[in-house]
Amino acid sequence: LTFAELGLSPKVQAAVDSSGYTTPTPIQAAAIPVAIQGRDILGIAQTGTGKTASFTLPMICRLETGRARARMPRSLILAPTRELAAQVAQSFEKYGANNKLNLALLIGGVSMDEQTKKLDRGVDVLIATPGRLIDHFQRGRVMLMGVEILVIDEADRMLDMGFIPDIEKICKLLPPRRQTLFFSATMPPEITRLVDQFMNDPMRIEV
Ligand code: AMP
Repeated sequence: LTFAELGLSPKVQAAVDSSGYTTPTPIQAAAIPVAIQGRDILGIAQTGTGKTASFTLPMICRLETGRARARMPRSLILAPTRELAAQVAQSFEKYGANNKLNLALLIGGVSMDEQTKKLDRGVDVLIATPGRLIDHFQRGRVMLMGVEILVIDEADRMLDMGFIPDIEKICKLLPPRRQTLFFSATMPPEITRLVDQFMNDPMRIEV
């Protein structure tokens, strides 16, 4: 199987070609064609499996039509740590090199004012740690009812860090009609409950 068989848009395919990757990893091969169609995915995968590209590539394709409005991000990626959030941002920058995507990274330790300016300009891809996102939401600087795609990355680490109540709070602010892509290395009961509560008939991919 090659990337060219996964149904990526020409712009995204060109970015993959220049990255030098030729063969999709198993989670990429399974998830990308399904995610491009808009279906929910539950990916049970460790880091190192190529899971980041398995959601960034189809998301960039799906965001090619439409335009972001001020303070209303079109997609939201929740990550447990600043480091992981920054890594996800790099993946969007690399694979989105041919797309004019507005990215914002809402993580602690960075000026809130800079982040607010970006939100005001309109954001296609908002990457956030849960605490900082809620902080912006409570100040009225971001609205979540325009989110078309939600990603929860490393859900089991979110659980370890005590973020499940924050995730529930955030999920309740999102429109029910959306795509959800959910990744966890393990599936403890708390995570299964979250999946049952907030996902719509997900395709389960275990690698
Ligand atoms: P991840 O599991 O998303 O953290 O990715 C692990 C590493 O594999 C990253 O350094 C990626 O750049 C790399 N990678 C992702 N997809 C591929 C691929 N299809 N071929 C080769 N390397 C890849």
